[in-house]
Amino acid sequence: MNKLTTKLKEIQNLQDDIPMFVTNSKEKSPISPLMYNNDSNKKLICKVLLNDNENYDTKKFEAITSQDKRFLMNLNIIEIYPKPLYNFVNILCDGCKSSYSITDITLNPSGLFRCEKCKSFKNGILHFNTTLQCRETNMSNQIVTLYLSSFDGEGNGFFGIPPVDAYRNSNEFQKLGIVFKGLCDPGNYVNVLVEQYKGGILRIVGNYENYIKFN
Ligand SMILES: [Zn+2]
Repeated sequence: MNKLTTKLKEIQNLQDDIPMFVTNSKEKSPISPLMYNNDSNKKLICKVLLNDNENYDTKKFEAITSQDKRFLMNLNIIEIYPKPLYNFVNILCDGCKSSYSITDITLNPSGLFRCEKCKSFKNGILHFNTTLQCRETNMSNQIVTLYLSSFDGEGNGFFGIPPVDAYRNSNEFQKLGIVFKGLCDPGNYVNVLVEQYKGGILRIVGNYENYIKFN
């Protein structure tokens, strides 16, 4: 079952309603050494918050079928793209829903920017737009690719900090670094709610509590 390695192009064609899941095809898959520490000692670092009336199965990657719409997974994150870290955050035009890089656009103090496509000033919605490469256990060779794009509020809280311009703010950039290290630490794991889209695309949805500490 290799459907999750679908190419970026196909993803975008299938998901026209989802503004640009991140995905620089030039980024290569991480080749990090397998970690042989004991999975049972791993620490939960981020967890989906469910309402009392919500109940989902926890799925192993191998057990996911095309019928599964929403389910839980426990995963070790090994990489988060795109790099550098400030590129985790994009700006979405609330008019035409175009997505812009944080490096290209500065919001004015009232949160407006000039959208090239709309040819006018529009509200810019800062949101996380990332690709996460994960394993189910530290010893697994299977890479699970998940997308987190919070433009519509799904995945809120996952990073433990709001989406901000860390390209122009070094304090925020440092915080992102702490978040990245915490999430990708092989001693930590995350509990996520996953929604499966057409073509086997897996997206992180729901609201999250993140336990990473900033001191
Ligand atoms: Zn626009």
